[in-house]
Amino acid sequence: MIPKTMKAVVVERFSAPLSIREVPVPEPGPGEVLLELAASGVCHTDLHAADGDWPIKPKLPFTPGHEGTGIVVAVGSGVTRLKEGDRVGLAWLYSACGRCEFCVSGWETLCLQQKNAGYSVNGSFAQYALAKADYLALIPRQLSFVDAAPILCAGVTTYKGLKETGVRAGQWVVILGAGGLGHVAIQYAKAMGLHVAVVELGAQKARFAKELGAEIAIDADSQDPSSEIQRQIGGAHGVLVTAVSTAAFKEAIGMLRRHGTCVLVGIPAGEFPLPIFDVVLNRYTILGSIVGTRLDLQEALQFAAEGKVKATIETVPLEAINEVFERLRNGEVQGRVVLGIAEKASTESFRRAGAH
Ligand SMILES: [Zn+2]
Ligand SMILES: [Zn+2]
Repeated sequence: MIPKTMKAVVVERFSAPLSIREVPVPEPGPGEVLLELAASGVCHTDLHAADGDWPIKPKLPFTPGHEGTGIVVAVGSGVTRLKEGDRVGLAWLYSACGRCEFCVSGWETLCLQQKNAGYSVNGSFAQYALAKADYLALIPRQLSFVDAAPILCAGVTTYKGLKETGVRAGQWVVILGAGGLGHVAIQYAKAMGLHVAVVELGAQKARFAKELGAEIAIDADSQDPSSEIQRQIGGAHGVLVTAVSTAAFKEAIGMLRRHGTCVLVGIPAGEFPLPIFDVVLNRYTILGSIVGTRLDLQEALQFAAEGKVKATIETVPLEAINEVFERLRNGEVQGRVVLGIAEKASTESFRRAGAH
């Protein structure tokens, strides 16, 4: 039985504490399904959504969250891909038009008609959420709902970003930052056969990077990252910038080998200067990368299902969201925080689905 109302985190005003409210459970329309959520990761983008500090703001009130995992509990008309009990993931790309030049050329992440979970439509910080059946990720059986959650944004974003560097097995990639995105990026890079160097602030985070498989970990507090990278490996074929400070972006260019590619996935406010002479004469490529397509996401989940990538996760209840946001703001989260929404098999639908 699906209840009439549910608990949801609601942003009522920007830059104000979020409310936990009892709201109606929505009904799936054509092409839609209703999910009962088991877990949801918390991403920096959720903070930006709740603060309304990006140029295009969400419409108030709304529920954030785009790393939601759970099971399908109701199916709208015309849905053939999914059925009740399927294990699925609700990610940033809630839907796209499926017809534009970007959608038909493998760039649905650039569709101008796209909707985004937890931003332009209600997201996963709730007990139930609507989703477009065609855009949900399928969560492999071997992967728990909690472990799958961070893959839906942090995982696919870094996996796609690494692909975009063009670095091949045996070549070097430098990952800037070993936080929520970076600590997952290190593991994808190793699983993809790349040599990995990491730049972080502080000896403790540098050690953490090594534990995750980085061959070189540079502590930017005590070493000069670009000259160290040039000295130790002669520059990197690719650099992935996951850091949340603009200083790191400037630094990244100096780590490249000639013909190298620098991919930006972290989104701090502001700009960074580019040395034009170096970019031209060394034939650097500098590009931005935003999440990944449905195919990228399915591949990213498969790496996790095979045990090659595992986010460091701290699980807290939905009600702790304001505290989690505060810690994210202060840079006090190591790895990823996941909201545990439904306890393992505690509800009837999860038991029926045999989910773990
Ligand atoms: Zn995200
Ligand atoms: Zn489109």
